Amino acid sequence: MSRKHRIDYKRDYPANWHSEIRPAVLSRAGNRCEGSPRYPDCRAENGRPHPVTGSVVVLTIAHLYEGDKATQDLTRLRAWCQRCHLLYDIWQHVRNAAETRRRQRIEAGQLEMEARS
Ligand SMILES: [Zn+2]
Repeated sequence: MSRKHRIDYKRDYPANWHSEIRPAVLSRAGNRCEGSPRYPDCRAENGRPHPVTGSVVVLTIAHLYEGDKATQDLTRLRAWCQRCHLLYDIWQHVRNAAETRRRQRIEAGQLEMEARS
């Protein structure tokens, strides 16, 4: 598996991502962070210093479910500030890495059994 997470909008995202989906989510959000599971009350305003981190907020669209880049379901998308987006993604990556290690252990065990038969 590649360690790079380069975004390929043409390949991975719906054709109307830039024209419809992204603007619709940002419009719903009212130019503010919509709040994440970790920070449900975050309403950091786009282009302004974040009230907690002090970094200028750049809202990005987060996918609630990994591998769901092709979705056109706005209920599965959130406009989030860097703090909310990054922490949510890290949590997903940690969970996925644990799952990958578990699967690799199982596969290694199966390979070992096959070699002995
Ligand atoms: Zn936020």
